[in-house]
Amino acid sequence: MHIDGACHCGLITFTAEIDPARVMVCHCADCQVMSGSPFRIAVAAPIDAVAIHGQPKRYIKVAESGNLRAQLFCPECGTPLFAMAPENATSIIIRLGCVKQRAELTPAVQLWQRSSLPWLRGLDRIPGSPKQEAFLPAPSRPS
Ligand SMILES: [Zn+2]
Ligand SMILES: [Zn+2]
Repeated sequence: MHIDGACHCGLITFTAEIDPARVMVCHCADCQVMSGSPFRIAVAAPIDAVAIHGQPKRYIKVAESGNLRAQLFCPECGTPLFAMAPENATSIIIRLGCVKQRAELTPAVQLWQRSSLPWLRGLDRIPGSPKQEAFLPAPSRPS
């Protein structure tokens, strides 16, 4: 499947050919911290199936296994985009939050459920709104 995406500010864009049956949800603590959300969605692709335009910034993190992983993000807006081996990478992980076709990409598996946030199971029971209406503003400062 052909996909394309961009960071929030548009400095980095990309196209890729992916297998839509290989989409993963990752509940690991690193994904939670680096995305500011309960989990990330990702798909791995051969590195030559991905064309990146622009120069993402790299942050090298040490995984629980001791492996080094380069995390690539936009240097301007900070959008997380990719992950790969720091050297001689043969595959690349694409973060699907920045992919235009993300609504069509239903995950096949979930990783690191050990650290999955407990309230996710009841997410559809938490009240909400189609747009911003349910936003809870900061309480007024106590006098
Ligand atoms: Zn950007
Ligand atoms: Zn993760």
